[in-house]
Amino acid sequence: MEAWSRLESGKGKTIGLVPTMGFFHEGHLSLMRMAKGLADRVVVSLFVNPTQFGPGEDLATYPTSFAQDQESAAANGAAILFAPTAEAMYPPGSRTTVVVSGLTDTLCGASRPGHFTGVTTVVSKLFHLVRPDLAVFGQKDFQQLAVIRRMCLDLNMGIEIIGHPIVREADGLAMSSRNSYLTGSQRESALCLSRALKLARQLAAGGERSASRLADACRGLITSYPEATVDYISFVHQATLKDVSTVDRNTVLALAVKIGDKVRLIDNGYVRRPVSSYLESSDEPC
Ligand code: AMP
Repeated sequence: MEAWSRLESGKGKTIGLVPTMGFFHEGHLSLMRMAKGLADRVVVSLFVNPTQFGPGEDLATYPTSFAQDQESAAANGAAILFAPTAEAMYPPGSRTTVVVSGLTDTLCGASRPGHFTGVTTVVSKLFHLVRPDLAVFGQKDFQQLAVIRRMCLDLNMGIEIIGHPIVREADGLAMSSRNSYLTGSQRESALCLSRALKLARQLAAGGERSASRLADACRGLITSYPEATVDYISFVHQATLKDVSTVDRNTVLALAVKIGDKVRLIDNGYVRRPVSSYLESSDEPC
């Protein structure tokens, strides 16, 4: 991987990286096409990174479709599908991790201890192996995007981090590899996330500014769906991820909801039209 990247950079070609865990859907493919529009060569990495899964999470059952993924990556602009083994990424004796403090102890970091250390460590490794000029990440994992932007700045990585808006199914459900775990009725319940976002936007457009009252309204809506339980409903500043009590044009509503016992889904979006969009959202709030 490194040899190829050095060769391409030597020829003056820019390299765009799209890190993924595979089982591609239209969200992943849009990131690849975006990268292709911004860089001469696109590398898609496919690595189900064991260190970002906690005990009892779905590492062992994470869906895969390697042959199909190879085909669709190539069809969407990837020059290379880089799929290292866990042994190659973490040879015996590995001891170094990358930790972004502060931004990682809230939201998904609070629900999934150690998750972001796994993410920042593997993304750092991928950056060193692929040596990209830019990397594209989905805004669906909004905290991950903020954490990686921070890591790149703090460690002078010099890689441009691009956010891609959330790609949704026609009915509003954010696309996710984990949607494949849902049964038919759970798929209906999964709509509670995008509907809660919509409700918060409608109430904010009507003048409601209190984060706690908006959260109560979202909780009421989400828990009215069968099998839906709230992990978190947080109104946060788009860059600092700090909780806010009054929603303004920097506020992002971040949601994590469990559907049944096994499937945990996330979604997020601006509550009001942002002044300047940190997330490059085209997911238009009211
Ligand atoms: P994953 O394979 O789930 O780790 O995701 C790989 C990349 O695709 C991450 O940057 C995700 O944020 C992004 N991604 C996943 N689902 C979506 C979606 N529905 N819309 C936009 N980006 C997404």
